Amino acid sequence: MMAASNDHLRLIAKLAERGITDSRVLQAMAEVPRDRFVPAECRNQAFDDRALPIEAGQTISQPYMVALMTQELRLSGNESVLEIGTGSGYQTAILARLCRQVTTVERIAELSEQAQLLLAELGFVNIDFHVGDGSLGWAANAPYDGIIVTAGAPEMPLDLYEQLRFDGRLVIPIGTGRPQILQTIVRDEQGPRVTDVCECSFVPLVGEGGWPADDE
Ligand code: SAH
Repeated sequence: MMAASNDHLRLIAKLAERGITDSRVLQAMAEVPRDRFVPAECRNQAFDDRALPIEAGQTISQPYMVALMTQELRLSGNESVLEIGTGSGYQTAILARLCRQVTTVERIAELSEQAQLLLAELGFVNIDFHVGDGSLGWAANAPYDGIIVTAGAPEMPLDLYEQLRFDGRLVIPIGTGRPQILQTIVRDEQGPRVTDVCECSFVPLVGEGGWPADDE
């Protein structure tokens, strides 16, 4: 992939300052060109640490949140990971650099198609794209070592939890208001072990295991 610009390098330094300590995550963030994932009119802000609008009223997450959520998965390279909410495909690309296989599910077909084109153009071959209700997970490729949800759910979607391997990690924004709480949930032999990571603000997870689609 292309060499990082000065703006891009400044962003990576800022992520490290804010507490991203996993060097593989920082390296992936330095390698994936975020400017390719944002709309043309926002390109000059691509390396600011902020969320930006994408098509269909959705958002590309803030780089710090992408890095933090990825770090929470504790990937070492051989994992199979499920992502719910493909969106722009930016988080998908970061995951694909850090694990063996990514399964990603998006409910809006147009977004999934755009992400597929871009990620193929960037040379990714270890991503399995699907259109559908990801609040139910993607049973065909289960179990997963990690599951990451980039939209907010009112409570932990049970199907997702059940598609985790034992000791697998589910990273998900939970809550009925804003802010939501980013939680990491480990599937323990005894049941879910929940850790609160931080406050966050995500678009709603719309589906059977999430919120009803009332505003669309
Ligand atoms: N990771 C993406 C985030 C996009 S915003 C990025 O950084 O670009 C969250 C995405 O979740 C939106 O694209 C939205 O359409 C999608 N989404 C919401 N509910 C969903 C569901 N039940 N299944 C799959 N995708 C869903």
